[in-house]
Amino acid sequence: MTENAKKLQPMNIAMVAHDNEKRSLLEWAKQYRSILTQQHIFATGTTGKLLEQTLEVKVNKFQSGPLGGDLQVGALIAEGAIDMLIFFWDPLEPQPHDPDVKALLRIAAVWNVPVACNRASADYMINSSLITCGYQRTVPNFDDYKSRYNAEIAAAKIQPTIGL
Ligand code: PGA
Repeated sequence: MTENAKKLQPMNIAMVAHDNEKRSLLEWAKQYRSILTQQHIFATGTTGKLLEQTLEVKVNKFQSGPLGGDLQVGALIAEGAIDMLIFFWDPLEPQPHDPDVKALLRIAAVWNVPVACNRASADYMINSSLITCGYQRTVPNFDDYKSRYNAEIAAAKIQPTIGL
């Protein structure tokens, strides 16, 4: 299927690229401009600025990654607001915010959000026929996990803390 033949429902796509991967992400975004401009794009600060220039669309920008942007994207994922994560992380250079990078990848796995970590995987995802057939990913139900202390709390008559 060609890029132009696709008719996509708007998705919330989060995009992040480490410095050595920004060129690759921007080339990829340019290649799929006609698809991406129909979506809602979210991005870490610098990635977002570059995407705005490249795609000439508004990007919802967060802090730069090392200043908390990855965590802001992760928070949106935890809220169920992100459909797809395009995250070109650098496999060859340590990042000052490695824990945040790991946290972002982890929370995407927790909530079953599809993640592309490089250009080839991003190609596969953006060209997936699942996008055009209204695919709804399974959102895990964590009710059992969230209620795991309820019996103990009831037995011990402990006042629950917020969020349990
Ligand atoms: P940046 O952050 O888009 O602000 O460069 C990306 C990252 O390093 O996580």
